[in-house]
Amino acid sequence: MIETLDGPLAIAHNGNLINAPQLRLELLSRGVGLSTSSDSEVILHMLAGAGGDWMARIRTVMARAEGAYALTILTRNAIYGVRDPWGLRPLVLGRLASGGHVLASESCAFATIGAEMVAEIQPGEIVRIDASGYEIVQGAPPQRLAFCTFEQIYFARPDSLFNGKLVHQTRQKLGKQLAREAPADADIVVPVPDSGTPHAIGYAQKSGIPYSEGLIKSRYIGRTFIQPSNELRKVGVAMKFNPLPENLKGKRIVVIDDSIVRGNTSGPLVRMLRNAGAKEVHVRVACPPIKFPCFMGVDMATQDELIAANKSIDEICAHIGADSLAFLSISGLMRALKAENGYCNACFTGEYPFSTPIPLIELQEKEKFADVWGD
Ligand code: SF4
Repeated sequence: MIETLDGPLAIAHNGNLINAPQLRLELLSRGVGLSTSSDSEVILHMLAGAGGDWMARIRTVMARAEGAYALTILTRNAIYGVRDPWGLRPLVLGRLASGGHVLASESCAFATIGAEMVAEIQPGEIVRIDASGYEIVQGAPPQRLAFCTFEQIYFARPDSLFNGKLVHQTRQKLGKQLAREAPADADIVVPVPDSGTPHAIGYAQKSGIPYSEGLIKSRYIGRTFIQPSNELRKVGVAMKFNPLPENLKGKRIVVIDDSIVRGNTSGPLVRMLRNAGAKEVHVRVACPPIKFPCFMGVDMATQDELIAANKSIDEICAHIGADSLAFLSISGLMRALKAENGYCNACFTGEYPFSTPIPLIELQEKEKFADVWGD
């Protein structure tokens, strides 16, 4: 939050601007002091420094910002919600029983506070909320639609709605498609909880193999792949799951996971299942191999760290010690989502939805800190 000539200004930002380094340099050259490496601070100061009313300022920022941004902006008299023109990150509008309006990334947040869903903000739209209600306007022309596929696969809560469809059901469809593409000769289908659970339900429904829990997840440990270091991630895996030997002993199991990023989780999980008595462990993954980094706000890994960027599927299978391994195909993923396009699949394909060349984006990522501190 900062004070401006027009009153206090605060923002919340979900996403990442790929051209933040250029925008940062422009601010610095105008004498604007920046105190962090955050692209959200860049947006804040661009808003503060632009001319016109707040709506005009937001349009000015949208015309310059390239990348993923779902924003909520608080001014003295109104709250604004802004969704980037590619629709990379979600943003939804809800209504409280009292009549007030609220914004969230996902609709599941509304149930918690007794609100109901009003609308999904569309790519390039701005919603303005004040005491009299809300209005939605187009802030920038929509670009090539590129909603993050990973929101559907992993990030979003399963009780959220995207395009009017429950994420839990979408994930079951991915699991069904996985069963069509990558059958396994197994006695039970076991999810990697919680994020692999709906995919495993779908896999079990389509394959006819009984669904069974084989791993119990500690409710006190968070997501492992976004922990800040590899060591923390590995400790996180050991602390995160306990096996259920009674369900696993002597069984051929097919384990369903939502994704494999670095491969740090899968190997220890396969070992854990074998140590608990599983006779065979077949791993099936409800998304394609992740080969490219995300520059749009998902802190996955650098390309060096992505196991599928550096190993073949057979090599990954040997690395994690599974009896077999298969991933959902891109075409199967899109079929299950009922989409030919409209999604970002850059972490699978390397095709980013922007005009800025990727080598430049990579260079900018590396130089972020040098730019900030001027060394
Ligand atoms: S690169 Fe992958 S994680 Fe990043 S926005 Fe695209 S689909 Fe989502």
